[in-house]
Amino acid sequence: MPTEMEHITEHLPGWLEESRHAASEGKVADYIPELAHAPADALGCTLIDTNGNTVTAGDCSLSFTMQSISKVFTLLLALMDRGEERVFNHVGMEPSGDDYNSMLKLELVEPGKPFNPLINAGAIAITALIKGDSTDEQFTRIRDFFRTIAGNPDIDYNHGVYTSEQQTAHRNRSLAYFLKDNDVLSDDTEVEDVLDVYFRQCALEVNCEQLARMGMVLANGGFDLVTGQELIPYRYVQIAKTFMVTCGMYNASGEFAIQAGIPAKSGVSGGILALVPGRYGIGVIGPSLNRKGNSTAGLHLLQKLSAQYNWSIF
Ligand code: GLU
Repeated sequence: MPTEMEHITEHLPGWLEESRHAASEGKVADYIPELAHAPADALGCTLIDTNGNTVTAGDCSLSFTMQSISKVFTLLLALMDRGEERVFNHVGMEPSGDDYNSMLKLELVEPGKPFNPLINAGAIAITALIKGDSTDEQFTRIRDFFRTIAGNPDIDYNHGVYTSEQQTAHRNRSLAYFLKDNDVLSDDTEVEDVLDVYFRQCALEVNCEQLARMGMVLANGGFDLVTGQELIPYRYVQIAKTFMVTCGMYNASGEFAIQAGIPAKSGVSGGILALVPGRYGIGVIGPSLNRKGNSTAGLHLLQKLSAQYNWSIF
């Protein structure tokens, strides 16, 4: 009887090719112009288990920017920097029910605080909480934290994608000014400075294996797989995983919880970070997105894997 990992190793390439067709149902994001160059029909997946065994299939050598996936890890760093109470003075704990870049509720619902840290407004508020005497120091601390979690000292941001977002981010700019007016960003916070760190954070570039390693640290309760060192306190991992389930897949998080039932976070580059608690870290890339902003082929593959191996945590 093969182990689950051996079974996955044998079948992942075939299932991945079956899922690839779903790419034609979506479209590559182009509101950040540089993202539009990504290959629409690419699909790659890496899975790492708690013994460090790795399975990869498809277009795993493709590098991509983390975009919204980064929000999970800046939330963790903000919690480690400032503690729960301070963080949740600035963002809420609820799904918004609106698009990730909506500003509707900031005006509609008192006290104008973002509903959660995974929508853009919430993530910008979180980035502002990262410790550092300058924007460079804040970003360097974020980048170094990501390097530690991914176990890779070379992770850095993609300048082309950063500049492309920087020059076109009219909506994020308006969100951030709204936050400042609502006192979610403090008086001494410069809106353009926070945005600069946020754009660089979103442009941090990874591949499927690095993403799977980051997922593995969360699956492993915050502990480094190799050294056994605690990288993130368990309580904060618990908070991050909960947000991934309730808000990680945009406005389709409820549907994904029913169809796959595992913590996951997607980004507009088509990346998805997923994990099976205590068992696997998973990195997926499939740049073609559905209307809700999730990778069409990536969703297809994760739902297949979860159903096949009964991964749902519910
Ligand atoms: N940098 C992107 C933005 O702020 C991230 C969005 C996403 O991946 O959901 O629009």
